[in-house]
Amino acid sequence: MHRLKNSLLNPLFNPKKLGYIILYVTNRCNFRCNFCFYYAEIDKGRKPTELTLDEIDKITNSAGRLIQLSMTGGEPFIRKDFVDLTKIALNNTRAKYVTIPTNAYLSDNIYEYLLEILPKYPKSFFRLSLSIDGIEEEHDINRSKPGSYKKIIETHNLIKDLRNHFPNLVLDSNTVFTANTQGRMIDILKKLHSDFEFDNHTVTYARGKIRDPKLAVIAKKEYEDMNKMLTSLSYKSEKRYLYPIYRGVRNVSWQNLIATAFKDKYVTPCVAGRKMCVVTEEGFVKPCELLPHIYGNLRDYDYDIKAILDNQEAINSRKWIKNSKCKCTFECALAANVTWNVSQYPRVLLSALKNI
Ligand code: SF4
Ligand code: SF4
Repeated sequence: MHRLKNSLLNPLFNPKKLGYIILYVTNRCNFRCNFCFYYAEIDKGRKPTELTLDEIDKITNSAGRLIQLSMTGGEPFIRKDFVDLTKIALNNTRAKYVTIPTNAYLSDNIYEYLLEILPKYPKSFFRLSLSIDGIEEEHDINRSKPGSYKKIIETHNLIKDLRNHFPNLVLDSNTVFTANTQGRMIDILKKLHSDFEFDNHTVTYARGKIRDPKLAVIAKKEYEDMNKMLTSLSYKSEKRYLYPIYRGVRNVSWQNLIATAFKDKYVTPCVAGRKMCVVTEEGFVKPCELLPHIYGNLRDYDYDIKAILDNQEAINSRKWIKNSKCKCTFECALAANVTWNVSQYPRVLLSALKNI
């Protein structure tokens, strides 16, 4: 019984067990991107109430085994204790897949982090996703940070060969689909594919309340063209455990995103608030980054994430999500909805076969 509780099968098949946490390790960031949905929090600067390592220890201990842990912000590598934070979170959750989105500006911090973490957790796969929103100066303008494209090249070159020593590192690029990038997306992706050595490229929609609302777009043709091109690119095989399945989930999520955004379809029930949740840098628990629902603060629940997910706010929120047939284009939730919905598995398998 104890073994089953601690196995990966528990978060995968137990409908009540949390499987995926999006942990905001900080709200601090050295960039001020105009499409950032977290800008209002970032503008507040360092919060004295940021979760401490001791608090993160209690929270992740209460979460138990996870399939996926995303550590985000803000810029995660700005936290000086990010190595220790990761060790604590991984010792407690033994998450199989870890995703860290980064603006890649702090090259040395990233390199030292990977050298310390990768050999310690060989059974966890660390997907570093470098945010790139244009080529050369275009990226610097879109990301509001002069010199940031040079830093992308520097970080990429510094860490890319670590994959030869540590097969648990996955190096991806991510570009945000905005009014500024939509017309250039295919050229940007082609250039990234030819000039860098990424394992995968992803494109995410500008979501939530962003600093410059004019950048949010729903451009069907451009998105579909980009999606076709992205899925047709030939990628090298990875060392990541079950990587064809991982890519299959991603491809089916993209198809579901198109059906949701452009055909107004409700494809799958959303698992946010039960299988997946967000923990903010101050300990608030929410189903996702988009709804205004807040289940409470972990500090008021003795850092017990299970207790918070069983409270009345969480129950009401999940009912609302189900009854309102809540849908959106948040890629992480779309991927979670595919992972935890057996009706999607035949499509995932089909797509996975193409990725072997
Ligand atoms: S999008 Fe990322 S890099 Fe840009 S301001 Fe927001 S958190 Fe920072
Ligand atoms: S569909 Fe989107 S907005 Fe609704 S609960 Fe899921 S992630 Fe949140």
